[in-house]
Amino acid sequence: MIMCMRIADIQENIDHELISHDEIMAKIEEVAVQASKDYEGRVPLVIAVLKGAVNTLTAFTQAMSCPLEMDFMSISSYGKSMSSTGTITIRQDLSADVKGRDVLIVEDIVDSGYTLNWLVQELKDRGAASVEIFALLEKPARHVVDVDVKYKGFEIPDEFVVGFGLDCDEQYRNLDCIAVLKPEVYEGALT
Ligand code: 5GP
Repeated sequence: MIMCMRIADIQENIDHELISHDEIMAKIEEVAVQASKDYEGRVPLVIAVLKGAVNTLTAFTQAMSCPLEMDFMSISSYGKSMSSTGTITIRQDLSADVKGRDVLIVEDIVDSGYTLNWLVQELKDRGAASVEIFALLEKPARHVVDVDVKYKGFEIPDEFVVGFGLDCDEQYRNLDCIAVLKPEVYEGALT
C-alpha cells in the first residue's frame, strides 16, 4: 500500500484544506486532455519550474496522450520570504535549447506574476516558437503584472498555501492536497 502525507498527519499545523487530492487530479486530467488535443502533431517541451511545480508536472505529463519532452529550471524571486521581490535569478538552467520549440511551462502558482512574466519573455528571447502556461493555482487578488495563463487550474484566495509541491521552508511538498497553514506556523518558518 502506498502511504502519502495526508492532512491528518499534520493536523496541528493546518488551518484548513482548500483543494482535495481528488479535485486536483480531476482538474489536471481535464487540462491534460485539452493540451494533448492542442499539441497534436507536435512534440511540446514541457518545463517545470523547480521545485514547486514538480508534482503537477508529473501528474500532468502522465495524463497527456501526445509525445512530449520534459525539462527543468530553477529560478528564484522569493528567497525565504512570502512575497516576490520581482528580481529573478536563474539557479539552474534548462538543458534543452528552446529555439524553435513549442514550450509549455508548468507552474505551481501565479502570485504577483513576476516569475512567469519574466520566464515567458526569457523563453521568447531564446527563440521559442510558442510559449504557453499551465498554472495549477492563481491568486488573482495578488497579481501585479499580467500573465497570459492558457491552461488554468484553480483560483484561490489571498492565503499562503502548501501541498502538492508547494512548501513552507521546504516542508509540506508531499502533502497530497492544497491546504492553508495556520498563520503561526508560516510566520514562524518564514521570518
Ligand atoms: P510570483 O512571481 O507569481 O509572485 O510568485 C510565484 C512563486 O511564488 C511560486 O512559484 C511559488 O514558489 C511562490 N508562492 C506564491 N504564493 C505562494 C503560496 O501561497 N505558497 C507557497 N508555498 N508558495 C507561493
